[in-house]
Amino acid sequence: MNKKLTIALVAHDQRKADMVEWAVFNAETLSKHRLVCTGTTGSLIKKAFEEKGIAAEVICMNSGPLGGDAEIAAMVVRKEIHLAIFLIDDLNPQPHEADIQMLLRQCRIHNVPIACNRYSADLMITSSLWDNDKYVPTIPQYIKFNRQ
Ligand code: PGA
Repeated sequence: MNKKLTIALVAHDQRKADMVEWAVFNAETLSKHRLVCTGTTGSLIKKAFEEKGIAAEVICMNSGPLGGDAEIAAMVVRKEIHLAIFLIDDLNPQPHEADIQMLLRQCRIHNVPIACNRYSADLMITSSLWDNDKYVPTIPQYIKFNRQ
């Protein structure tokens, strides 16, 4: 992939090991992009990359329960995120469910690809569409709500 993307990486506690393993497996690709993560997810990825000598730009926001998902959702709204990988723990309740739903909702609204499992994440980061100038993602029209 030639285009440099900003990729959001977020994983709940029960999914963090999976996220770190996925990030290390895809390190060669991910190291070419800017990674924006919630606090703990980002620090674990940074540590794993450092241990393996992988240089990558990893930006850590606040921890998820303290607003990290909300910060990333705001970046989605500002069109600063190209792709999000969000490994959600579907088996345990989260204290910041409202922020989780906000991040998912803003990705849907702004047509940002969001993968919630590893298979989807693999398919998305390997897509040839990123470098296909002829492919233009359809911009959703919300005419009724567009007050600009
Ligand atoms: P964390 O946040 O990476 O800071 O744990 C993830 C989340 O719970 O949304």
